[in-house]
Amino acid sequence: MTNWREFFMKKLNILFKPEDVEMGAKEFLSTYASYCTEIGLVGKRPNGYTIYPSRTAPVEDTFTGFFEEWINLTDALDIKTVVSMDFYTDGWFAKDPKYQTMTPKGKTMAHQICPNREEYWQYGAEIVKELGSYPIDEILVFGSGFIREKFCFCERCRNEFAPLVGQEPDRLTFEYIIENDDYRKKWHEWRQDKVISGLGYLKEAAQDVDAQMGREEPLRITAEVLLDAETGFSEGAKAEYGYDYQRINQTTGSIAINLYPWSPLLPSKGSKEYNELIESLYFTNEFKRRGGSVSLFRWGISTIDQFDELAALGKEAGVTRFISTFSYPTDYSIRREAAIGNY
Ligand SMILES: [Zn+2]
Repeated sequence: MTNWREFFMKKLNILFKPEDVEMGAKEFLSTYASYCTEIGLVGKRPNGYTIYPSRTAPVEDTFTGFFEEWINLTDALDIKTVVSMDFYTDGWFAKDPKYQTMTPKGKTMAHQICPNREEYWQYGAEIVKELGSYPIDEILVFGSGFIREKFCFCERCRNEFAPLVGQEPDRLTFEYIIENDDYRKKWHEWRQDKVISGLGYLKEAAQDVDAQMGREEPLRITAEVLLDAETGFSEGAKAEYGYDYQRINQTTGSIAINLYPWSPLLPSKGSKEYNELIESLYFTNEFKRRGGSVSLFRWGISTIDQFDELAALGKEAGVTRFISTFSYPTDYSIRREAAIGNY
């Protein structure tokens, strides 16, 4: 059995799935609570199902009791509590062809929805309100951006973007956009606007529920941002995923940098790539200086060595909060293929 105590004592925030715990919430927390300062639990999974009794999203009934018991206990024990929700990575919603995000060649992604959907921002906002009605401290929002630079070419995105670059919607191609520097810049900014708008809905919902609940500390919304060498580190991520760190800072004030999401290994200390990675994380100093909070996140940390490696990297980059999951998302291989695939 995993030696959870070791991880908790290193102040790692582990984002649990109920099935990781292998015992009841009460038994687990009474064993480990004294070692924890903060802890995480999944709220809405990548398959779109919640494990809490949602009135908005489909519910996985098996764990609703677990969820409520867990949250009540972490609140009573004064452990900082994080709950996760997948946002555009929603396999249930993405079954509806109206919402699927699309490649330039019209291939739909059945696991991820287009970030240009105000109805979906409202849906996300409802989830935030539901989660925020529990005594939790933070919501970690996965899948807050586009799959890659080539997204999204769904009908709505074409119709909206094509006129901005003097093209007919059905004749808009990725090549047409990237062959012209101004068009490409417009593409990036237009997509960043969508990402920010989506996060804005979530933040507003958090503020509404703060007022309702009379929270002393505001419910924090933390946006996952992906970062790896293949997509050009933090600079490249602005163009690939549609992030604008400064505006995210103004909107939610908090990010969790998902390091090397598609690779089982981080670059080794002393390598050229390692140095590039550290350098690319310097933007977090400015982010924090402007009042934002920054965490490093990694999927699938299951040994202390893996954690120590992440912590050493964080120390060099000046980031000291770490969140991880022990396992990978259930749809990891589909997501990975979509993110690194050729279209
Ligand atoms: Zn779209």
